[in-house]
Amino acid sequence: MLDPKRLEKFRVKPGKILRLKDHDPAWQPEGKTAQEAVEKTMAGNMEKLYEAQCKLYAKDEWSILVVLQAMDAAGKDGLVKHVMSGLNPQGCNVHSFKSPSPEELDHSFLWRCMKVAPARGQITIFNRSHYEEVLVVKVHPEYLGKQRLPARLVTKTIWKERYEDINNFEQHLARNGTKIIKIFLNVSKEEQKRRFLDRLDTPEKNWKFSLGDLTERRFWDDYMRAYDEMLEATSTKHAPWFVIPADHKYVARAAVAEILTKTILEVATEYPTVGPEAKLALAEARTKLISE
Ligand code: ATP
Ligand code: MG
Repeated sequence: MLDPKRLEKFRVKPGKILRLKDHDPAWQPEGKTAQEAVEKTMAGNMEKLYEAQCKLYAKDEWSILVVLQAMDAAGKDGLVKHVMSGLNPQGCNVHSFKSPSPEELDHSFLWRCMKVAPARGQITIFNRSHYEEVLVVKVHPEYLGKQRLPARLVTKTIWKERYEDINNFEQHLARNGTKIIKIFLNVSKEEQKRRFLDRLDTPEKNWKFSLGDLTERRFWDDYMRAYDEMLEATSTKHAPWFVIPADHKYVARAAVAEILTKTILEVATEYPTVGPEAKLALAEARTKLISE
């Protein structure tokens, strides 16, 4: 288990200046046996997560949205697999956001996100998300052209406007019963290189490598700037960002499982209870069954 105080340190405080260079992607707990200790508690943590999800599902009031953003090879897919392995598939789903389709480009950028936002009782993971609109699109402003926005609406303030729209969208979801947590898997440029090389050198991993990943790596500094600004502008009380060290996969997986469990338990502490009338009906049903 990771120290809860440490988990709090990963949270981006609203209104505070944020510099990713102050966050160590290679952070891990101190001590030779720290990794072993964290991994040992992982199985128990997954059970706690499952138990929390059952309550959320049974309550059928709140929903959970996990937004996952990262550079390539930061471990998004592995993280999704790990977290999902502890959940009941009936109550969760993952949505991966790719380059927008023509139909999606014909609508506002939040349209496709709203359509797949979680239903009550459900956990939804956004693997990439609406944040691509202030990351990849900001790093490659020519993508804005494809969106065919009316020219006079595309001004210097467009990114600020998008942060506002995103904050308002998330506030709307929060006010309607969605708990939102946003995870940035913070991988270092050196670790990305190691993982790319591993994908190139291991035949079973070749399929994971795309030449485009190398092109995007050339824009690393631009991405870091875009992430800095975005994290600072959109970490709010109702939808906080967590900057999670991702050079060590076990750290990222343990941290996210713990943050997710804690978040669910804030809104679903117990199973729904049954009132006196319903209890009477249950007792009658029982008598009927017994006397069959
Ligand atoms: P992996 O490579 O691990 O399978 P991935 O999330 O990188 O996962 P890809 O299909 O490789 O999946 O990439 C999806 C691409 O779609 C990313 O390059 C991302 O930047 C791009 N994308 C997502 N949303 C948008 C958007 N709104 N506008 C432009 N590009 C986007
Ligand atoms: Mg990719």
